[in-house]
Amino acid sequence: MQIDLGKIYHNAQALVARLSERGISVTGVTKATLGLPEIADAWLRAGVSGLGDSRIENVNTLRRANVVAAVTLIRSPMLSQVDQVVALADVSLNTELEVIRRLSGAAQKVNRTHGVVLMVELGDLREGIMPELLENTVAEVLRLPNISLEGIGANLACRSGVSPDAKNMAELSFLTDSIEAKFGIIINIVSGGNSANLDWALSGAETGRINNLRLGEALLLGCEPLHRKIIKGLYPDAITLVAEVIESKEKPSKPWGDIAQSAFGEVTQFEDVGSRNQSILAIGRQDVDPDGLTPPQEITILGASSDHLVIDSSKSATRLNVGGEVSFQLNYSALLRAMTSPYVSKVIKR
Ligand SMILES: *Cc1c(COP(=O)(O)O)cnc(C)c1O
Repeated sequence: MQIDLGKIYHNAQALVARLSERGISVTGVTKATLGLPEIADAWLRAGVSGLGDSRIENVNTLRRANVVAAVTLIRSPMLSQVDQVVALADVSLNTELEVIRRLSGAAQKVNRTHGVVLMVELGDLREGIMPELLENTVAEVLRLPNISLEGIGANLACRSGVSPDAKNMAELSFLTDSIEAKFGIIINIVSGGNSANLDWALSGAETGRINNLRLGEALLLGCEPLHRKIIKGLYPDAITLVAEVIESKEKPSKPWGDIAQSAFGEVTQFEDVGSRNQSILAIGRQDVDPDGLTPPQEITILGASSDHLVIDSSKSATRLNVGGEVSFQLNYSALLRAMTSPYVSKVIKR
């Protein structure tokens, strides 16, 4: 995998600038990169206000690399990890009082203050406190020692594809105002969502109280996740996957013999289109989501098993040779898996 830090920096800088005009700061979400410090550093230079990751292990990676930034754990902490969360993260996104009580206990033990952002359910039905119960939760949180209520937030378009829009964002603004009025406090962070919020945030619509977005995909892949459109002026190829050819042969296009399921349960209808240039790349489902790869124009992906990606390169002007390389663009799913595979080396171009 090749990571072009110049393009990574450019994507972040462009979004930070456009969102800052709308009064919105950016938390750079590193989870798809497993908390890769070089990317985090590039984002910080580009002006993100802080970093976020869903896994405390990745936060630990950032800390051990001496990345200096406010770090938010963006998945509700596991009870079994509260001590680590307090030690490593400045803030965490939360929905369960039981967890926040335990964070409070852990923070008291080490004499620290841990920041909490309460997540509100706005319809996507993943994490979040039901809006009508937010007030009660706030009242409890404000009583807990060594916990500071830093903000409220929401997350949409992840589980059910519910789009952020004027209506649900106005609800989050309204909840912010009413919590402030009821408790006489100031809510610093109103974190409206993720990359799926960009259409809304950059549309010129009223942004209300929303002053932060948590962005991963848009910064890494230059696209918004609702319709997977490339965001104007951003690079979709800041990260590419390069795979090596291990077999290259002329083969028939139609398999022979009695056909049942393939290794991953697919049953394919094969058409006989004659003899083709077929190559195998040394990468498979253990390393990447093959459905999330975009090959160069002259190449078609034919299939994938655990360790093999089979391609047709008949349209290529030059024959692919053993030892040759093919480079792909990745979608989020392919990126996530490739970053997580220990077999895929991460080569950083500065
Ligand atoms: C993953 C995640 C994000 C970032 O999402 P992108 O679509 O990559 O921008 C933001 N917030 C939460 C809670 C997440 O889990």
